[in-house]
Amino acid sequence: MRPSDIRATELLGQNLGNASVKLYRQMLFHFVQQAAQNTCYRCDEAIENVEEFSLEHKESWQSAADPTASYFDLYNITFSHLRCNAYAGGAAKNAAKTHCPQGHEYTVENTYRYRNNWRYCRTCKLERERAKTAIAA
Ligand SMILES: [Zn+2]
Ligand SMILES: [Zn+2]
Repeated sequence: MRPSDIRATELLGQNLGNASVKLYRQMLFHFVQQAAQNTCYRCDEAIENVEEFSLEHKESWQSAADPTASYFDLYNITFSHLRCNAYAGGAAKNAAKTHCPQGHEYTVENTYRYRNNWRYCRTCKLERERAKTAIAA
């Protein structure tokens, strides 16, 4: 980090990058509200505050013929409640999964959590580490 960034982070009490993303979000939501566009694309109800405001793509850009163009296509962008957002829904679906992709159960002992709350399977991790050691040896 540059010294000026460190100073800014101290003044704001948070990472400057995070603060700037937050500011953009608040500005965007402010203008969306002023333009009376704060209606959820999914449930058709008003998005009342920035905490529940999310951007999403109407058509999945990842499966588009030209993902980059689709990602940046403003006509493909819409607004929704965070809880209605298709991606957030995907995360909820993931949380409901009881087994890892390799079929190991997500028990308390077998589950590690990353700081972002994502889970990973301990058995798989051990197996990966074992494989690595085997290659090294
Ligand atoms: Zn909604
Ligand atoms: Zn596993």
